[in-house]
Amino acid sequence: MRLSQFHLHTSKETPADAEIASHRLMLRAGLIRKLAAGLYTWSPLGLRVLRRVEAVVREEMERAGAVELLMPSVQPRELWEETGRWEKFGGQLLKIQDRKESWYCYGPTHEEVITDFARAELASYRQLPVTFFQIQTKFRDEIRPRFGVMRAREFLMKDAYSFDIDDAGMAAQYQRMYDAYVRIFTRLQLEFRAVEADTGAIGGSASHEFHVLADSGEDAIAFSTATDYAANVELAQAAEPAARAAPSEDMRRVETPTQKTCDDVAALLGIPLARTVRTVAVMGAEGFTVVLMRGDHALNEIKLAKLPGLGDYRMATEAEIADHLGSEPGFLGPVAPARAIRVVADREVAAMADFVVGANVPGFHLAGVNWGRDLPEPDSVADLRNVAEGDRATDGGEIRIARGIEVGHVFQLGRRYAEAMGFTVLDEQGKAVVPAMGCYGIGVSRIVAAAIEQNHDEAGIIWPEPMAPWQVAVCVINPKQNPDVDEAAEALHRELRSAGLDVVLDDRGLRPGPMFADIELIGIPHRVVVSERGLAAGTFEYRARRGGDSENLDRGTLMTRLG
Ligand code: ATP
Ligand code: MG
Ligand code: MG
Ligand code: MG
Repeated sequence: MRLSQFHLHTSKETPADAEIASHRLMLRAGLIRKLAAGLYTWSPLGLRVLRRVEAVVREEMERAGAVELLMPSVQPRELWEETGRWEKFGGQLLKIQDRKESWYCYGPTHEEVITDFARAELASYRQLPVTFFQIQTKFRDEIRPRFGVMRAREFLMKDAYSFDIDDAGMAAQYQRMYDAYVRIFTRLQLEFRAVEADTGAIGGSASHEFHVLADSGEDAIAFSTATDYAANVELAQAAEPAARAAPSEDMRRVETPTQKTCDDVAALLGIPLARTVRTVAVMGAEGFTVVLMRGDHALNEIKLAKLPGLGDYRMATEAEIADHLGSEPGFLGPVAPARAIRVVADREVAAMADFVVGANVPGFHLAGVNWGRDLPEPDSVADLRNVAEGDRATDGGEIRIARGIEVGHVFQLGRRYAEAMGFTVLDEQGKAVVPAMGCYGIGVSRIVAAAIEQNHDEAGIIWPEPMAPWQVAVCVINPKQNPDVDEAAEALHRELRSAGLDVVLDDRGLRPGPMFADIELIGIPHRVVVSERGLAAGTFEYRARRGGDSENLDRGTLMTRLG
């Protein structure tokens, strides 16, 4: 590949609205360009990186025995009504109408579609177990798209779905996928942790999230230094018996606020409210209630519909809330249905966070904190640590709290979808049984951003080698001036390629300063300079992106170094 014939568009400017390093660098390196909120074009350069991630994911899925298919991104309403999710999914579901005024959604996930496929194509236990996967565009109307492709509205996901005759089979497939995820993130050279995750509103028996560790992460995870134990902080808290208690008297009072001030509600909940509190979510045994506030006032008119164990209320959907308030989608901040709201807040943490959605109430397990990026270092979340140590005091290790970026999620779904959609297969005895299902997601496009969060410096991106758009850049000083220099660069280019390396030839004719700055910004792991001077001395100048000085190496040494 010749850079003169490739479209590279870098920029020195730091985009004003980009809050985190990966977002800034992806824009500066010209990997992505924003079209509208949460919608991005992947440039030719960006796409090379995205495809590399995709390739690793695909290889490991296939190695784990999953088979690829491709489902439509537009999905009919009727299917979603079978599982009740047309209403329940909330504001993230983008609903669209065709010319006949039939309703569809743009798929945020594909449990319904895959179950529809499975019920049409799978009839016997002999066809199980089977795991299907696809790598495909999803759309979620995120209430607060941000950080570029990290939390976009349209994004690329690998989603896989397993079908098994029984629970033991489902657990085995789950483990196979879990192991594949470990291989994927290891191959991509990311520092990550698999954490136990709350199964949330979906229910089901087991779930793990894979988090890339980064200070900019939106999740808080607790892990032990002594063992492999790690949990999403929300889960550590959920394990407390209090979390499962019946609604308390206090709770009932919160359910019927009449123009209560923030302070009233704070007193009821027993938490100091930060100035910026806008929403309080109270979670009971089987669901939770959202109390919304605008300014100082609790908005009591919100219809919170019925949930067992919570009197006459259920969580209002984002859509209901937004409709009711007639507000901008950003009003609520990142309050999402059930699962997303579950990071557990401690009183003090609640007071420190920039956006609080809940706190502890006696007898209640509560929703949580959207981690403000100014949240102080782990020490100041000592109480969260205590919570986790309640949970895990016995392994002799220390519990650390870190922030993570959720890049993958595996889930034992059980029979919920198959049951709702009437999907059965015949077992060995010829009896119709409902198969057990698992689902497994990876944020392919999010991984690109997450990798940059972990790998960058002042000069730009430092790609983990398996993700780099090219492994080697051959930079030509003053191309088309001296035929010997051009010929030497071409020859080296050919030689490196036949050694199996992915090489780009920078023949754009930029001055060395700007040329090297570009190559560093876009994060190419190895740089080789071909110049008249080097040629005269019989050497090439080599430099690794990860640091170290540049060295003048003869051809043989260079090939060994890169090989
Ligand atoms: P989050 O908690 O970050 O909102 P999620 O739990 O809603 O993610 P899943 O339903 O588990 O997401 O989807 C599988 C994967 O898709 C996630 O682990 C994440 O890597 C990725 N993903 C989810 N939402 C987005 C988004 N808005 N932009 C980019 N990637 C996303
Ligand atoms: Mg999540
Ligand atoms: Mg989400
Ligand atoms: Mg998830």
